[in-house]
Amino acid sequence: MTLRPVIACCLAVVLSTPLWANDAITGIEVTAPEIDFDVINRLWGFVKKTTHAPKDLPPPPLVLDWHVPPFARMGFQYPTPQFPDNTMQISIAPRTIEGYSKEMVTWGVGHELVHYAFIMRENQWQNRRATFADSLKHHCDLEFKAITRAIADEIWKIYHSDTQRAAMYDEVEKSCFNEPNQ
Ligand SMILES: [Zn+2]
Repeated sequence: MTLRPVIACCLAVVLSTPLWANDAITGIEVTAPEIDFDVINRLWGFVKKTTHAPKDLPPPPLVLDWHVPPFARMGFQYPTPQFPDNTMQISIAPRTIEGYSKEMVTWGVGHELVHYAFIMRENQWQNRRATFADSLKHHCDLEFKAITRAIADEIWKIYHSDTQRAAMYDEVEKSCFNEPNQ
């Protein structure tokens, strides 16, 4: 679930609500109640550990974004040489929060955080660059698949839903099958 080429056109008009900023995730009044920030913070720590990221690497902003294309639920975008005006953020479509379980939304954010960590690692963890190289593909990468499966296991340790975990495992395979170039 990366959105970069698709919504590059529309980002200037994104009406977004920051849900977290800097290195701590802080909820605000309009925060959607189904987003579990404690769990997402835990997953961010897990992603940093498994990708060997610097401990002080900040997470990207997480925003509610009414312009996520209809076929997507959420996505991670960032500026590239081709699309230098992209804003670095994880965008979640509000309909996603209404239409999916809390576990699945949380897993989706975890998936996007792994995209972020992989991009930062490809760029020597220089998270303040103006644009980011992204020549590596993620969805079928064995490490990417292993980490996103492990995120499903981390979420299982909290909610204990076998059904939800099976659905997350499915998403790992579907990402590779449907979007192998991302
Ligand atoms: Zn993805």
